[in-house]
Amino acid sequence: MGVDSASIQRLATRFHGQIVTPLDPDYELGRRVWNVMIDRRPAVILRPSHAADVQAAVAFSRAQGLPLAIRGGAHGVAGMGTCDDGVVIDCSLMKTISVDVAKRTARAEAGVKWAEFDAATQAHGLATTGGTVGDTGIAGLTLGGGFGWLEGAFGMTVDNLLAADIVLADGRLVRASGDEHADLFWALRGGGGNFGVVTSFEYRLHALDPMIVGGVIVHAYTSAREVLAFYGDFIRTSPDPLTVGAALVTGPDGNKACLLACAYAGTTDEGLTAVRPLKEFGSPLMDTIGPVSYVEQQRLLDQAAPPGLRNYWKAEFIDGLSASFIDTWVDAFSTVASAMSYQLLFPIHGVAARVSPDATAFPLRGGVHVGIYGAWKPGEADEPNLRWVRNTWQQIKPFASGGLYINEIGADDGQDRARQAFGINYARLGSVKAKYDPANMFCLNANIEPAATD
Ligand SMILES: Cc1cc2nc3c(=O)[nH]c(=O)nc-3n(C[C@H](O)[C@H](O)[C@H](O)COP(=O)(O)OP(=O)(O)OC[C@H]3O[C@@H](n4cnc5c(N)ncnc54)[C@H](O)[C@@H]3O)c2cc1C
Repeated sequence: MGVDSASIQRLATRFHGQIVTPLDPDYELGRRVWNVMIDRRPAVILRPSHAADVQAAVAFSRAQGLPLAIRGGAHGVAGMGTCDDGVVIDCSLMKTISVDVAKRTARAEAGVKWAEFDAATQAHGLATTGGTVGDTGIAGLTLGGGFGWLEGAFGMTVDNLLAADIVLADGRLVRASGDEHADLFWALRGGGGNFGVVTSFEYRLHALDPMIVGGVIVHAYTSAREVLAFYGDFIRTSPDPLTVGAALVTGPDGNKACLLACAYAGTTDEGLTAVRPLKEFGSPLMDTIGPVSYVEQQRLLDQAAPPGLRNYWKAEFIDGLSASFIDTWVDAFSTVASAMSYQLLFPIHGVAARVSPDATAFPLRGGVHVGIYGAWKPGEADEPNLRWVRNTWQQIKPFASGGLYINEIGADDGQDRARQAFGINYARLGSVKAKYDPANMFCLNANIEPAATD
């Protein structure tokens, strides 16, 4: 199904960004998202250049009665940033970032990626919690919650969101903050793309010296059980500024390995003291932990998750690492089907864990995020990779605490998983949805059904 050319021409008279239809040379590239397993053909891709364009795009898609997908950095693995035969509002041209050094705030438009945001804020020795891969969009990550290297010291990304400008289903452009549309502001901090198209985000920034302590320690896969037992104990008592993830990976030499990756959000002296137990444990094969620029740390994992691969993920939360969980987790990796797939544990801790689960719409204030990341090259068989992810997921499910991160919901997870992810906040989110998007125009996401109103 297409959009008739007269409608496109009428839109073009008031739209200042780019309009890409299947007839344009840019279409094949433009419809692509990070996860190439998602292969959809929108009727039209609208790339706004400012908020008024977003208003025009929302009005256009409402008038056309077509499905509407919203895209920031295109990293959503489930592919909800695109659709077949509908409209995609692709915010990638909206890249303005302004930093207010005196107030320690930054305003960034919805097409900004974390590497761009980090560079702009670190120029002033400032930062806020962002994702661990530089190419990821600030938009989807922020609206879902946002964990990263700075969460222990400064909280989740949503905890640092001060305001958002958003185009609603009825076309109004409003600002949501603590004292303007406060109900909407609460919902945006974890409720995903359910409420409208966010055009810009305003964040609280923190002082962070451009040199921090970070890096990775690599252990042999044969020691993974001992390393993970140590890791599980360590993260229970490690200081807030030290955030440590643990991964099972296949190294460039083809050997499986267990690695610990960390960052310390503070001075290098304090950081070097805090990481000493990590560096002294066992007999690592490699240890790069030491002073590193924060901007570099933020790109440490970029190569582990490049664009252009087929990806299939499953995720859960656990309360902690029991011996039987570790056995199951390590055994599962022995059957991994692709050298690009990995398993990652990442705790929600420190300041991020001390926020009440209902203070924002993001309820997961503690525990360890468990990610099973299947990734393989186009042309390689899907089936063994899908099977490995699903089998691993089934094996770890008995250990799951019930929490689920909406930004890691898989392509084939149903709406009951979305409801599970919002947890105790689902009913309140339904009421906010009923107020701001009663017809569920923004439904291509981990969807919240508008609550019934009297
Ligand atoms: C390689 C990689 C690394 C990751 N690392 C982390 C990490 O360290 N921490 C973490 O918390 N998460 C991480 N994630 C998950 C990440 O939070 C999600 O993939 C997130 O959706 C990415 O945002 P995006 O804007 O790039 O994605 P998109 O696919 O563009 O958007 C995802 C969804 O967000 C909504 N959305 C996007 N833009 C807007 C907008 N302007 N207004 C309203 N709704 C919008 C839409 O519903 C859309 O479907 C990672 C993902 C990948 C692929």
